[in-house]
Amino acid sequence: MNNLARKYIIVEGIVQGVGFRPFIYNIAVKNQLKGWVKNTSEGVYIDIEGKEKDINKLLEELKNNPPPLSQIEKITVTKKDIGQFNTFTIKNSKGVEKPMTQISPDIATCKECEEEIIDTNNRRFKYPFTNCTNCGPRYSIIKELPYDRVMTTMADFKMCSKCLEEYKNPSNRRFHAQPNACSKCGPKIWLENSKGKKIESIQPIEDTLRFIKEGRILAIKGLGGFHLVCNGKDEKAVEKLRVRKSRPKKPFAVMMKNLEIVKKYCDVNKEEEEILTGIRKPILLLHRKNELLSQSIAPNNREIGVMLPYTPLHYQLFDKDIEILIMTSGNISGLPIEYKNHHAREKLSKVVDYYLMHNREIHLSVDDSVARVILDNKQLIRRSRGYAPTPFKLNANLEILACGSNLKNTISIAKNGNGFLSQYIGDLDNLETYNNYIKTIEHFKGIYKIEPKVIVHDMHPEFASSHIIQRLEGEKIAVQHHHAHIASCMKENKIVDKVIGIAFDGTGYGDDGKIWGGEFLVCDYSGYERAGHLNYVKMPGKDYAVKEPWRMSISHLYELYGKKISTNKFDYLDKRTKKNIITMISNNLNCIETSSMGRFFDAISALLGFNGNVSFEGEAAIRLENLINAKEKLYETKSYNYLIENVEGRYVINTKGIIEEILYDTENNVSNSVISKKFHNTVVAFSIDMCKQIRKKYRLNKVTLSGGVFQNKIIIEGIYDGLLKEDFQVFIHREIPCNDGGISFGQMAIAESKLSTRRK
Ligand code: ZN
Ligand code: ZN
Ligand code: FE
Repeated sequence: MNNLARKYIIVEGIVQGVGFRPFIYNIAVKNQLKGWVKNTSEGVYIDIEGKEKDINKLLEELKNNPPPLSQIEKITVTKKDIGQFNTFTIKNSKGVEKPMTQISPDIATCKECEEEIIDTNNRRFKYPFTNCTNCGPRYSIIKELPYDRVMTTMADFKMCSKCLEEYKNPSNRRFHAQPNACSKCGPKIWLENSKGKKIESIQPIEDTLRFIKEGRILAIKGLGGFHLVCNGKDEKAVEKLRVRKSRPKKPFAVMMKNLEIVKKYCDVNKEEEEILTGIRKPILLLHRKNELLSQSIAPNNREIGVMLPYTPLHYQLFDKDIEILIMTSGNISGLPIEYKNHHAREKLSKVVDYYLMHNREIHLSVDDSVARVILDNKQLIRRSRGYAPTPFKLNANLEILACGSNLKNTISIAKNGNGFLSQYIGDLDNLETYNNYIKTIEHFKGIYKIEPKVIVHDMHPEFASSHIIQRLEGEKIAVQHHHAHIASCMKENKIVDKVIGIAFDGTGYGDDGKIWGGEFLVCDYSGYERAGHLNYVKMPGKDYAVKEPWRMSISHLYELYGKKISTNKFDYLDKRTKKNIITMISNNLNCIETSSMGRFFDAISALLGFNGNVSFEGEAAIRLENLINAKEKLYETKSYNYLIENVEGRYVINTKGIIEEILYDTENNVSNSVISKKFHNTVVAFSIDMCKQIRKKYRLNKVTLSGGVFQNKIIIEGIYDGLLKEDFQVFIHREIPCNDGGISFGQMAIAESKLSTRRK
């Protein structure tokens, strides 16, 4: 039908600053449609007239092929009277009353820009800051909203006439691309030595490559901060970096030249390939294919974190000799990533030989995100670059600030029915990270224009964030750590009714003042009942037991044998240390009780030979998982004996039998691989058993899994599959991290629900 028609279309979602209007403009012009498009605070409005079938074409494109950075939530179409327009125009968005609240995350270089930088005839050949409306920096350079060049750190760069032409041309890919630049008018790179002295070089990138080949360590300023970089195939350089960064064992992420190289070293399935090559380019955890990669990149780990180049600069850091670069955050272990030139010079001078600097200022540091594929789909372990601050829909229109957890901190803010989860901030146990935390809170309040009346925080009385929380004005809501974990998973999965929540993690303050972490909660947003948990065991020396897993082993052994305990296993400890620990436990001195699943894993790991201090969170547990060989992973199905007891109306897992049998196995030359797999099977088995008993008592069938222990593949897959077989409905995290990076989101969800019920 060639009937003429006129339609009024409203598109809602993330549709601003993502090239939406030129996208519509180009389709309209191509199809001889007339009318206009404009941005408003509610979304993009399109008034369009032409042949019905052409309008339908536009609607089809809108649905099936929208600009890559957009996220359409709703399209509303209404009919109107025809005969209004002669041309198609992009209307000025001036006079938009309410500020836009949606900011695009930073996005990896798109295909078109990539082609331009390798094209010798293009004016952007090799230009390291090439970007367009489909790619480039956003969140990390925005100082304030609305998103306009003057509000970003690009304000200091005046566009040259060619760039300006692109910027003003609606049919150009760079129409209204705020960070648009070229080598004439945009940011520049240069080299400095470790003392911060500029090195005169006409080809800084070529020189950088030379330094990398010489085995040097460089700090390279990227999109959201500095990376520490060296040749991933140069074992000596990698070791040197470990020493200088004081990061003995924690895996390093790598950047690989291209997909082909990734496939040479790692197993890559279809889902993984999509994530690697997608527009966000997180670090993806992949299974190592072989022993070709140096062990020092990720010691004792079968997985490796890999990403592909995501800025025009990155592409140029590879050549025929360089195919793998260590790309770890530019910081001293434990401190936040450096993102200001002068700070980097100060802090990293002892770590690096050279700096590759640039003068596009990063306003807010954004770490690389970390993802993996689990149960056939993507799951984010760290939600940061490429994802933050994409909002989640909330039910209520409230202003809330959620302060998050002490470790792996993030914050969340609720505004206008949207929940914004911040980028990864880190562990709040040092002043630098804490300052970054405060800055992020202020930044969020500033860009989203909110003065939250409600502040949600963890119940823990001694969190670093308690100081700031006391200073903030407004109503305070304290949320139990594991309740927040489960709520974050419920919210992500849009669950409204009661669930059985399994929260397995390292540490969370319980409402009995003890350290929880192996929890079975029956809960919704309004509250929880602790239906069951792992039995309490003492943590001798409290927090020291986190750093020294053997303390937990001794504690478990003491539970079993009391004073008759044998500590022969721990031959690396001197007699006095062992005696002290036993005295601590028997006299209950400097101990705190814990039901933590993380500590339980630590204890087993130390029983199976993990004999050092933990140099990063989860190290002992990761070691335990990695003891399992491919064969046992598939075929070892036995498990150890456990007991579920009823203690004061709660189901409590008694772990004594497990420890006893593991000891028996270790003394009878059963391999660590078999023991570890049997242990994992046991955790899976008692979890399912617990859920079955809780289902019977509470008549609930939905189970949500949350907490850092679910980063363990065998545990999450085992429990997930096992519960499905028992006809449970099971929900896991995808977009929100299962670890403490998701706590602020759960806190926000709980506060949202509390406040909206109060309103009714
Ligand atoms: Zn681009
Ligand atoms: Zn230019
Ligand atoms: Fe936690």
